[in-house]
Amino acid sequence: MANTMPKPRAHILLLLTGGTITMTKDEQGILKPAHDVHEIISTFPKMQEIAEIEVLEVCDIDSSNMAPGIWQDLANHVCINYAQYDGFVITHGTDTLPYTATALSFALQNLNKPVILTGAQKPISELGSDSPFNIFNSFQVAAKGKIREVAIVFDTKIMRGNRTSKRHAKKIDAFWSPQFPLLGEIGMDIRYFSFADHPLPAKPLELVNSFDSQILSLDLFPGFDPQILYKLLETKNYHGVILRGFGIGNIPTNTNLLAWIAQATAAQIPVILISPCPGGTTYLDLYETGTKPLKAGAISAWDMTLEAATVKLMWILGQTKNMVKIKELWQTNIAGELNIS
Ligand code: ASP
Repeated sequence: MANTMPKPRAHILLLLTGGTITMTKDEQGILKPAHDVHEIISTFPKMQEIAEIEVLEVCDIDSSNMAPGIWQDLANHVCINYAQYDGFVITHGTDTLPYTATALSFALQNLNKPVILTGAQKPISELGSDSPFNIFNSFQVAAKGKIREVAIVFDTKIMRGNRTSKRHAKKIDAFWSPQFPLLGEIGMDIRYFSFADHPLPAKPLELVNSFDSQILSLDLFPGFDPQILYKLLETKNYHGVILRGFGIGNIPTNTNLLAWIAQATAAQIPVILISPCPGGTTYLDLYETGTKPLKAGAISAWDMTLEAATVKLMWILGQTKNMVKIKELWQTNIAGELNIS
C-alpha cells in the first residue's frame, strides 16, 4: 500500500545578523539596521509550508562591522542547536558574507547539515527587492537537505561558501565562485550538481572556533617600499601577513622584500602570496618573481579566494603559531576551500 503520510516539514533555525536585507531607510535615506525581526517570516507565509521555522536574532549590524567574535557566536549557535534542527539559514549583509561563510566552514568541522547564508542587494521593504527570492530559495535549499555544508544562496546560484567572492557592488547577481563550480542553480526549479555531493563525515560535528585577527593583508604596487614591513616586524604585533602581488601572485624581487620574507618566516610569521586577479589562481612556479619568494619562505595561496585565504590564516593562527604546523594546515583542504592539484 502506498504511504500517504505527508512528509514532515523540515525544522529550520533562522539566524539573523542584519545587512541590507533587513535594513530600513532613515529620514535622510541612509540604510540602517532597524527592523522587526518577525517581518521576514510574516512577509512570506508560504515559507511555513516548506519548513517549520524558528528565529534567533544574533545581531543586527551592517556586515562591514562583522567581527570574528560574531563568527564564533554563529558557530556556537549552530553547534548548540545542531541536533534539534534539519538545517540553518543565516541572513547577513552582502559586504562580508563570504568571510563569515568561510569562517563557519572551518569552525564547524564534520558538518553534515545545510548551513545556508543569504542576503540581498535591496532591502526587504523596497519594491523589486531580491530579498524574498533569496530567502525563499535559501529555505528551500536548507529544507531539502542535499547541501550538507556551508553554502551561499544568492540570486540564481548555490555556491560553496568558502569559494565565493562578492564581485558586483550594485548588480543583483552580486556573487560568484571563481575557482569552483556551482553546487546548484536556481531557475524555475532548483537543480543540484554533483559538486554538492560528498561522503558522510566519519566523525560527529566538532567545533574548532578560534580565530586570530592579528594579521595584515597588503596590496602591492609598482614602487612599493618594503620599509613599512620591516617596521611592522619590529612591533611583533602581527602573526601573519598576506601580500597581494601581481598576475599569478608574483612580487618584486629587486628590492629588500625577499630578505624581509626570509626574516618574517624565521620569526614564525607566515607570509602568504596571493594573485590579485579576481578570476585567477596563484601559481608561483612559473616566473623568477614567484620562485624566489617561495625559496625565501613565502607560501602560495593556490586557488583560494582572498576571503578564504584571509579567514584560513586567521583560523590556523587560532590553533597554532608553529610554522611547520601552519604550513601543514595551510596545504590541507580543510573544508573544500582548496585544490592544490
Ligand atoms: N552594507 C551592507 C552590509 O553588508 C550591504 C548589504 O547587505 O548588501 O551589511
